[in-house]
Amino acid sequence: MTATPKAWFEETYPDLPLEVVSFLQSRHRVLIGGQWVDSVTQKKFPTFDPATGKVLAEVAEASAEDVDEAVKAARSALEKGPWPTMTPSERGRLIWKLADLVEAHADELAVIESLDNGKPRSVARAVDVPLAVDLFRYMAGWATKIEGNTIPISVPYTPGAEYLAYTVREPVGVCGQIIPWNFPLLMAAWKLGPALACGCTVVLKVAEQTPLSALRLGQLIIEAGFPPGVVNILTGFGETAGAALASHPDVDKVAFTGSTEVGRQIVRAAAGNLKKVTLELGGKSPNVVFADAQLEEAIPAAASAVFFNHGQCCCAGTRLYVERKVFDRVVEGVAEEARKIRLGPGWDPQTQMGPLVSEEQLERVCRYIEEGKEGGARPVVGGKKKEGQGYFVEPTVFVNAQPQMSIVQEEIFGPVVVAIPFEDPSEIPPAANQTIYGLAAGIWTRDISKAHRLARELKAGTVWINCYNIFDAALPFGGYKQSGWGREMGHAVLEEYTELKSVCIRL
Ligand code: ADP
Repeated sequence: MTATPKAWFEETYPDLPLEVVSFLQSRHRVLIGGQWVDSVTQKKFPTFDPATGKVLAEVAEASAEDVDEAVKAARSALEKGPWPTMTPSERGRLIWKLADLVEAHADELAVIESLDNGKPRSVARAVDVPLAVDLFRYMAGWATKIEGNTIPISVPYTPGAEYLAYTVREPVGVCGQIIPWNFPLLMAAWKLGPALACGCTVVLKVAEQTPLSALRLGQLIIEAGFPPGVVNILTGFGETAGAALASHPDVDKVAFTGSTEVGRQIVRAAAGNLKKVTLELGGKSPNVVFADAQLEEAIPAAASAVFFNHGQCCCAGTRLYVERKVFDRVVEGVAEEARKIRLGPGWDPQTQMGPLVSEEQLERVCRYIEEGKEGGARPVVGGKKKEGQGYFVEPTVFVNAQPQMSIVQEEIFGPVVVAIPFEDPSEIPPAANQTIYGLAAGIWTRDISKAHRLARELKAGTVWINCYNIFDAALPFGGYKQSGWGREMGHAVLEEYTELKSVCIRL
């Protein structure tokens, strides 16, 4: 008997859990109408391990025809079958069961996420997976609480007539959901949770860089007992599968998370049938440190505000405004934090920062760093790719940048922060708001009035005071300006997945 040769990832990452190895080696297909099927063209594409650049698995490449099949399945599940007649309580229980299953498979999902995305598995296990579980549980609770109002109406032109008027919230319908690669499982949860709580059906198109955790989630969705076609999952590229979903005439709503540039394309594609659109897009978030802040907390937090997830967060605190009196101390402190960060593959328990997700991202981030240097900005620390295999970039802190430079204006999506001094608090609102984005902002001060006053003036969907990157399923998240349309999470998201119907009865 000859032993089966080991896959490269078993050699490179000893002690990979057996269930992860067998998942990676399984046939990866798309989920349509409750069945795992090959794409219509039978085409496949590779997903890479960003720490080595090697192929982790091959997945089905969905095309417009697969999108069409998935939309048909979602439409049929929305209109026929058990889903539309299920009670809200039954729907809530299914979502809760999915949360339990994700929790039961937390270790496995964290490893899959770490291998495919590059993030440390400890981070995936401590942040991505538990937040996904929490989101599903939070949304499971909402399924039974989606209510309308009774509305006293007067109707001046029908004197003497009496009416009973009320509103009901109904599912918006078939939802196309397109998600990015920075938090693959969590973004799937953010999208699926509210759609399912509201009784919608979904075609989820995952990012081509990180398809794996959503495929495992799809298996758990089936195990939880969701009726066929309620959730359909497609792996494929943005320009093909994503574009076909955004423009599909039988999709009622498209929800997208990704770059502002692609967000604009989604809006154009959605215009054909005027489908509802929500967008969670880019950011260039200001993080403001006043001299009276608790610096021993603000400094490591300012570092983590930008370096968490390797800077691949739409809300990363990439413009660090620091009051002049403490500028050198804060910059040196953040640089010191950057120097201490251990770069390595996500599998290594010592790793604090993994590689960027792809070669394309590596090149993009390095290009921004070069533009910064050429423009006269100076990296106090980092400022280059880490030598060797994998898509690693050194955590980088720039000073001496000018307001119009690309490193100050554009979303880099890598571990790069620009530190900018200010003299007077009155400089902050105009400087911080001088961006096309408005996703998030941070404020560090012990003066509570100053903090609230500034929070009021910042054009941002989330303002963190004396903290950063604090997320909760109950707290709405989304952007002002070109950072997006609508909100995710919290009560607010339910409006994005329901239509409001007014019913008026003459008594
Ligand atoms: P990034 O630039 O960070 O990779 P993108 O905005 O390009 O982010 O991608 C986010 C998601 O949008 C991915 O699932 C991607 O496949 C998808 N996408 C990219 N281009 C399009 C498009 N033209 N239409 C629809 N979806 C797209």
